[in-house]
This record gives sequence, C-alpha cells and structure tokens, in this order.
Amino acid sequence: MKATTIDGKAIAAKVRAELKERAATFAATAGRKVGLAVILVGENPASKIYVRNKVTACEEAGIVSSAYHLPADTPECKVTELIEQLNADKHTDGILVQLPLPEHMDEKRVLSHISPRKDVDGFHAVNAGNLLLGNGCLAACTPQGCIELIKSTGVRIAGKHAVVVGRSNIVGKPMAMLLLQNDATVTVAHSKTADLKSITRQADILVVAVGKKEFITGDMIKPDAVVIDVGMNRVDGKLYGDVAFEQAADIASFITPVPGGVGPMTIAMLLSNTVTAAEQHA
Ligand code: NDP
Repeated sequence: MKATTIDGKAIAAKVRAELKERAATFAATAGRKVGLAVILVGENPASKIYVRNKVTACEEAGIVSSAYHLPADTPECKVTELIEQLNADKHTDGILVQLPLPEHMDEKRVLSHISPRKDVDGFHAVNAGNLLLGNGCLAACTPQGCIELIKSTGVRIAGKHAVVVGRSNIVGKPMAMLLLQNDATVTVAHSKTADLKSITRQADILVVAVGKKEFITGDMIKPDAVVIDVGMNRVDGKLYGDVAFEQAADIASFITPVPGGVGPMTIAMLLSNTVTAAEQHA
C-alpha cells in the first residue's frame, strides 16, 4: 500500500490560523502588533523569494514585518549596526537575517549580534545551547516544523528509533535534539557515516537533510517508516527532495512531499517563534 502523504501546506495553514489568533490577542493586550524585522543583503534570487514569502505570511497572520534590503557590498559593520538598532527597538520582537550573506561577511559573527530573545530563527549559540540543555528557547524553525509533521501522523515518537541524515547546525543537529526531547532513540548520520543504508533501514522515523536530489532510495527505508524530507534541490527549475519520493512511498507509512511538506512548516514555525518572542517580552 502507498504511504500517506503528509500535507505540510494544510498543517501549516492550521498552525498559521492559530497564530493569527495569538497575534490578535497580543495586539489587544500590548496595544501594538507583533513585529518581525527581516534583513536581506544582496540580490540572491532565491533569498528574495524566501523573504517575500515570509513578509506575506506575516501580513496574513497580523504580524508587522519590516524588510531591510541592503546592497551586496554593504560592510559587515553596517549590518551589525542595524541589528543592534533592532535589538533596542521596542516594536521589533523578532529579527531574521536571510542567509546566505555575501562572501565578505562572517555569517556566524553577524548572527551572534542578534539578541537571543529576538533570534526567531533559533540560530544563536544561546538558543542552540538551551536546546541542548532542554531549556525553553527559540528553537530552529525547520526541525520544529518536522516534529509537528511527525506528530500529525499520530505515530508516537517516544521509544522509536529516529535516524537523522545530516548534521548541520540549522537542521540536523537541532532536529536530533528535538527528537531526543521527544524520547526517541536518535542516530545522526553524515557524510563520513559507514554503511549508511544499514542505518537508515533501522529508522522508524527517518529525517533527511542532506541537500542531494533523491539521495535516499526505496531500498534504504524500513517498511512502514515515517519519512520526513527536508531537502530542497532545484534542478532545471524544478524542486526535488532528498528522498526518491515514488520509491519511498511504496515502503513508508507516511512521507512528506517536496514541495508542500517541510517548507511551509518552516515559515509557520518562524511566525510561531515571533509570536512567542513577543509574548515572552511584552
Ligand atoms: P548542509 O549542506 O549544511 O548539510 C548537509 C549535511 O548532509 C551535512 O551534515 C553533510 O555531512 C551531510 N551529507 C552530505 N553528503 C552526505 C552523504 N553522502 N551521506 C550522508 N550525509 C551526507 O545542508 P542543510 O542542513 O542546511 O540543508 C540540507 C537540505 O535541506 C538542503 O537541500 C536545504 O536546501 C534544505 N533545507 C530546507 C529547508 C526547508 O524549509 N524545507 C530549510 C533548511 C534547509 P557532513 O557534515 O559530514 O558534511
């Protein structure tokens, strides 16, 4: 039997409707709307689309978004000055720097200037550290979205063997931490992992964040696994995941499509973090 496709768009729409209510409640009590500042440096076409989507999503949720579009040759110190101004701005609850930054900038250094309280991407070392310690924090959006998608299936995470393929700071590592917090037994695989297939085939829950088109094939999947495909690989103008969808769908019980799976949830979780940041520091 074919796997059930997890409808990320529909689940994200539900989350966004709930957030709209929370944002309205905040506005009624605080006397101002929740505010998100988005900083874009340069002309990367994909980044421009992502920023536009985020701004539109904010508007729909009743969040005020301010987009700061700076030229590609802006010195790093000007970007960090802007971040410091926004850190001090009472109407800005969340600050997002769209990545990648131009090559002359040190991304880690730039991001470290964002106040952890306003770090709605959850990339700051303080938030990453709190996630590791199991403290409340603004956690990275994509992994949070993946957890919601897994929970939407009704499959219990506790006690399951979850395998995360990829160990980036923005997806793989925080994903592993969130699965651990949800009582899964977690294995993290990466480019140096030996015999990857023997590991992915043990996964009750398989999360793939590698960045290689259809890298995970059907024979790498355990029967009835829940498969979450984070990958976004644009080839000849078409978007592909990291999982060979048709093959995987013949074996898994639930699977996310690309597009329409993890992507919409990432934006929903960004809005969620922004509303949470506002509520915590009103
Ligand atoms: P990175 O390039 O930062 O990390 C990729 C990871 O994959 C690394 O840990 C790397 O291992 C691992 N890897 C590479 N080759 C192999 C291999 N042959 N076997 C096992 N592991 C391997 O990517 P990101 O984590 O930033 O993103 C991953 C994908 O997710 C991309 O397609 C990206 O576009 C997408 N993405 C989607 C989002 C969404 O909203 N849907 C949000 C963020 C990302 P090593 O560490 O050893 O190099």
